[in-house]
Amino acid sequence: MATANKKQHGLTKMEIARFKRELEQKRDEVLMGEKVMRMDLQTSQEDLMDEADLASSDIDQSMRMRLGNREFLLLKKVEQALARVEEGTYGECQSCGADIGMKRLEARQTAELCIACKEEEERKENLSVHGRKPKSLGQTLGAKLSLG
Ligand SMILES: [Zn+2]
Repeated sequence: MATANKKQHGLTKMEIARFKRELEQKRDEVLMGEKVMRMDLQTSQEDLMDEADLASSDIDQSMRMRLGNREFLLLKKVEQALARVEEGTYGECQSCGADIGMKRLEARQTAELCIACKEEEERKENLSVHGRKPKSLGQTLGAKLSLG
């Protein structure tokens, strides 16, 4: 009991336990096929990166169009996150090993990269994904910084 306050990747055991519960809940919701639409809209804001500046109706439309695939990906991410909880690596950046940080995990329990690595990944995705509207760099950076 004396070690209860010991932190792992910036998270206490209680915090990790809470994330685990939330992840399990999320997984169950996906598997049951209920509330997926709403959940997806909530959890994928970061996946969508800087698309937040688009009209919400546009987001809604594109979400519906790729829901099938996204639902699958979400489930996979949730399961991977749960596996990391079991391994004791939850909260650790899978790329550089840094702490992902409480704030970021609160916003997105399935986060597997720290904000710096995530930005790097998104930059690469932006270069490789066609059909995205080019965004102003200043706006993008501003949005990222506000994420903490
Ligand atoms: Zn990292």
